[in-house]
Order: sequence, then structure tokens, then C-alpha cells
Amino acid sequence: MKSIMPPTGIVARILGSPKPSRTGYRMTRNCIRAETDDGTLLYNTLTGEMILAENGELSLSSPLTREQLIEKRFLVPEDLDENSLAETVRQIVSTLRARDAHITGYTILTTTDCNARCFYCYEAGVRKLQMSPETAEKTAEHIIASCGNEKVNINWFGGEPLLGKEVITLICYRLSEAGVRFKSRITSNGFLFDRETAFEAAEKWHLEKAQITLDGTREVYNRAKNYVNGGPDPFGRVMGNIGHLLEAGITVQARLNLNRDNFGDLMSLADLLGGKFGGNANFFAYPVPLRTFENDAGEFEDWRDEIKAYRALKDKLSSLGAGRPDVLRPDFSSVRCMADNATCEVIHPDGKVAKCEHFDETLVIGDVFSPGRDNTLIGKWKERVFFENCGQCPMRPMCINLKLCPWSRFGCTESIRILRIRNMQDKMRNYYLNTKTGLGTPQEL
Ligand code: SF4
Ligand code: SF4
Repeated sequence: MKSIMPPTGIVARILGSPKPSRTGYRMTRNCIRAETDDGTLLYNTLTGEMILAENGELSLSSPLTREQLIEKRFLVPEDLDENSLAETVRQIVSTLRARDAHITGYTILTTTDCNARCFYCYEAGVRKLQMSPETAEKTAEHIIASCGNEKVNINWFGGEPLLGKEVITLICYRLSEAGVRFKSRITSNGFLFDRETAFEAAEKWHLEKAQITLDGTREVYNRAKNYVNGGPDPFGRVMGNIGHLLEAGITVQARLNLNRDNFGDLMSLADLLGGKFGGNANFFAYPVPLRTFENDAGEFEDWRDEIKAYRALKDKLSSLGAGRPDVLRPDFSSVRCMADNATCEVIHPDGKVAKCEHFDETLVIGDVFSPGRDNTLIGKWKERVFFENCGQCPMRPMCINLKLCPWSRFGCTESIRILRIRNMQDKMRNYYLNTKTGLGTPQEL
């Protein structure tokens, strides 16, 4: 048996050594298995520890194996309430991490307007607001006052954030002038990223990553995006703009929205992306099964079909050198996203401050014009929700769902659960293969 990844330090310190059980032992529910040529990888989703049981070694009747599995919490006392233990650990980690935290993550909506009109847009119907230069000045002042001199991460969001390019430049100028260290990323449709903007973004906005959604090959994309003043070939223009971003040293993450009707077309798009950008370390594409808050915009009827299509597309992108690397991070997450993270704020175009990136004028915690915040609402954003299958699911210690999150309205579906587990298995295998090829050496137990 080999140790492949040690437990997360903070969790190991909280849990200490396992106490002997008076009721006997059983396999933990928090275990994900992944088969490899060398044996079975076991990953503990609470402790973050991963071990390899080499072929034929996983025999619980062997006293040595049994002892090791108890010590590493893969075997746990029969009567252990693992769900409450995971919650206790999470609460302690949250408390420890929340101490003296400054705001260092700002999602800034420069506008709620957009130059595309995607049929699946969940922000359709929201009030169209544009950030003014005055509000941009106040936003910069607010960041300077609240970041505690720490390095700041900015996420430019919208609508289409590039419709507010001037306010991005203004905010970045003020931060640089004040000596604030910052980096940024953007979620954009990419249409307005001409060469000049890409280089300005790299230099002045310290832009490191751009997430761009691609709905299909030329004809499908042009129909789905339905740009205002899109010209004859928006698809060709966005492909060219991805090239400009890469040339400027910015990482491009292309998100491919997968629905029940576009699998074949996305497979052709994968070929095209692989041919154009495959092998570029700063480019990757990844499929996301399309889900919307309110309407059925082409979601799969049978989850098995969704998983089959998702896997085929993901594998194809990887084989073309254009897939997203599956990285297993040695960490225990105590937050879901910016909404329950004390170090993050979302700033609306009118200067109102919220917690969730999805624009909702009813969930405002304050504004950039004054430091006051609605602590009751901030507390509500931390409330979690569990779904029917969570209690028995091995992902539970790693999986956080918030009561107020619009995605929680769906509950968890079979396809979400299985995709999460399969992605985790991919990460485990990747991590193991890296240790084998010299990026780390597994230790004998
Ligand atoms: S939609 Fe949900 S996951 Fe996304 S930022 Fe809002 S609360 Fe977080
Ligand atoms: S939300 Fe889904 S994936 Fe997460 S713990 Fe619950 S059942 Fe598992």
C-alpha cells in the first residue's frame, strides 16, 4: 500500500489520531475509488488523503492492511456519524480561516447589458445598467480601503463586461496609482477582444484568464449568439480574438455548453479547436451540460445520455491537446463560492454590493459609497442545503450547496452526482500518474 497524497494539514490537525472503536469498523462513506493499472486508488473526501492499494493488496482480513486503513480513516467506527463529523470539521476550518480576513476578491459587473442574445441566457429580462465613471471611481476607492494592502483578485463580469471597457481601465488605473497589487480574469463572449484590447488587458488590467463561451461551429454559433451588429461572421471574429488573447499571454478557457441537440456539432468544434489551438499551454476547452434557472433550454432527458456525451467530448478535447487538466488540489474547501466567502464581494454597475455573481437587485448587502453591510443577509448566504442523496454520497464532505443559490432550486440530479464523482476519479488518476512520472514520489506506508 502506498501513500499518494497526504491528508490536508488543517483537517489532520483538527481530527487528530483515530480513537479505537468499541463497535467494530466499516468502510467510510467518504471514499472514492479509481482503478489504475497498478491497483486501486482510494481518496478520502474528508481528510484529502489518497492511497494506492496495489493489485491484490486490498484485503481487509490482513491485519496490516486493516490497521493502516483505520489509521488513515478509510475504515471508521461502525457507529460514527460521518456527516456531523464533516460539518464540525468544516465549521472549525471556516472559523480559523475567517479570522482577520480582508476583502480580496471582487467580482465587478461593469454592465448588465450584452451585445449577444443567447436563447439560454439566465440574465434575460434584468434591468440594463451601465457603470458610470463616478461609480467606477468609488469602486476603486472602496477596493483600496477594504483590501487591507493585500493582493486583490478581480473578476470582470456582466452582462458583457467589455461593453464597460472604459470603466475597467479607469478602475485598474486608480488601483495601480494607489500601489494596490492585483490580477484579474474576465467572463466574456470574446466578440470585442480585438488585438489592441487584448494587449491593453494584459498590460493594464493584469488580465490572466478569459472565459469565453462557444456554442458550436460557425453556423450554430452565429445563430445561438445572435449578436447586435454582429457583422457577417461573429464566429470567425471570436476565433481570431482568442488568437489575440493567447498572443498577449492570456489564458483562454473555452466553455462549451452541451445540450441534447448539439453533441455532434461540439465534436466538430473540438476538432477545429484542437487544430487551431491544441498544444498551446494557455488554451483549454471544457464541456458544461447546459442548465438554466427557469426554462428548459435543451437539457438532456436521460442523464445517461448526458454523461456519455460529456465524457466523449471531454476525452476528445484531451486527445487533441485542448482539454482542461484535471487537477487534484490538496485543500479542504470550507466555502462554496464568493457568496459564502467572507473575503469576496460582488459590485453591481450602480455601485450596490451583493454576494452572488448572478444579478439580483433584491439581495443587496450595501454599496461602494459607504462601508455599512447587511450582516443578516451575509449570514443567510452561508446557510447550506442538503438534498435527498447527500447523506449517502461520497462527495458530501467536499460538496457545498447554499440555500439562496439559484442552482440549489434544482436539487442534485443523478447526472450532477455522477459527473462530480467521475471528474474526481479523473483527477485522482492524473495526480497518481504525475507522481509516477517524477512530479512527486509515493511513499511506502
Ligand atoms: S449562483 Fe450560486 S454558485 Fe454562483 S455565485 Fe451565486 S451562490 Fe455562488
Ligand atoms: S449535492 Fe449531489 S454530489 Fe453533492 S453531496 Fe449531495 S448528492 Fe452528492
